[in-house]
Amino acid sequence: MAEVDVRRTSLESERMTAIAERFVPGGVNSNIRLGGPSVFFARGEGAWLWDVDGNDYVDYLLGQGPAFLGHAPADVLDAVDAACRSGMVYAAQHPLEIEAAELMCRAIGWAEMVRFGSSGTEVVQAALRLARAATDRREFVRFEGHYHGWLDNVLIDVGDDGPIAASEGQIADYLKDCHLLPWNDLDALADVLKRHGPNVAAVIMEPMMVNVGAIEPVSGYLEGVRRLCDEYGVVLIFDEIITGFRVAFGGAAARYGVAPDLATYGKAMAGSWPVAALAGSAELMGRFGTGAVNHSGTFNANVMAMAAIVATLRRLEDGTAYRKLDRVGGALMKGLRELADGASIPLHIQGLPMAFHASFGEDDVVDYRGLQAKDAAGYRAFARALFDCGVWVAPRGIWYVSTAHGEREVEVTLDRVGAALKRLQALNPRS
Ligand code: PLP
Repeated sequence: MAEVDVRRTSLESERMTAIAERFVPGGVNSNIRLGGPSVFFARGEGAWLWDVDGNDYVDYLLGQGPAFLGHAPADVLDAVDAACRSGMVYAAQHPLEIEAAELMCRAIGWAEMVRFGSSGTEVVQAALRLARAATDRREFVRFEGHYHGWLDNVLIDVGDDGPIAASEGQIADYLKDCHLLPWNDLDALADVLKRHGPNVAAVIMEPMMVNVGAIEPVSGYLEGVRRLCDEYGVVLIFDEIITGFRVAFGGAAARYGVAPDLATYGKAMAGSWPVAALAGSAELMGRFGTGAVNHSGTFNANVMAMAAIVATLRRLEDGTAYRKLDRVGGALMKGLRELADGASIPLHIQGLPMAFHASFGEDDVVDYRGLQAKDAAGYRAFARALFDCGVWVAPRGIWYVSTAHGEREVEVTLDRVGAALKRLQALNPRS
């Protein structure tokens, strides 16, 4: 194993953190970044990041998912650059948006129409509104551990007796519209729809629970959910903001062979460009077209976003990238398990090569509650040690792999993980 330098210096990041804390609340622009290492990145290329002090990192956070093609992918940059030189926003239609829409629908397969927005949070709201309009019902079903954005009706903590507001200032009354259930439990859904079906507009879920535990749907679950939604006239929404175009071309619906009525996309779809989409049947989506259901946005389908989607989907459509991800991500998962076994550390790895989860403890995480039982503080300390050794990961355990990761990155990563495990053991000799 190569010797691994721990972080050399952080003086410049510290200086910038002090300025950020003066002018930006908490020094960060998204609350999920609170409590992370005080680091400023200067540059990203492929699977790598460099901070302002010159330290390098192999990146497995990938901007929380969007850098699916690695950082600064040349084809996406060139396409965006070429397109935006002729104008950026028109408040009207332009040719690239029909190219992007057609490509998306063809890639997804089951969807007939698509609308573009800017963030996952907003297209989730468009999906829920559409479902309410189509069913003339108000309530929806969602699942423990699934994230659907930060707005009042979907931001939750899991309380003992149901969902609770997760933020001061949140209108907790909106949460009365949702039934919160454990995921991967068909009986729980059948029971709630039996009791409340006539009031339920939508069932919304991450079709693979990536945010928590990288948990795949158990065999027959998605098919069962589909059947129950049909039985009760409920709109099935897959929130594919993470899974879309990451777990397969066409997303989790394609990977698991179950079509929802509506699905949201973002992140991996556009080579890091900020854009999101809602796709669905013509029957449902057509309600936006008549003006009956409002979905608006100044930046919707802007030129840069459409160019980025077209370039990204063109890169992904022949399937080569997914085969590479299987190989590289698979080797990384195997290498991590072997390292941990060698050091007698119960580091548990589960999920898919392109999105897997690491935690301390022998067992599979099978649901949200299982994750709560894991040693989260221990893992956060490990994530911090990884950062110090040059591996950038989320403290909640998720590892994203990009199409830019290769054998060299895996090799360097495993060296650095080995060093981080040693650091951790030195800090806590009984671990
Ligand atoms: N839905 C899922 C499954 C997500 O993971 C996220 C963000 O991580 C969102 C919705 C919200 O997307 P955004 O952060 O773009 O608003």
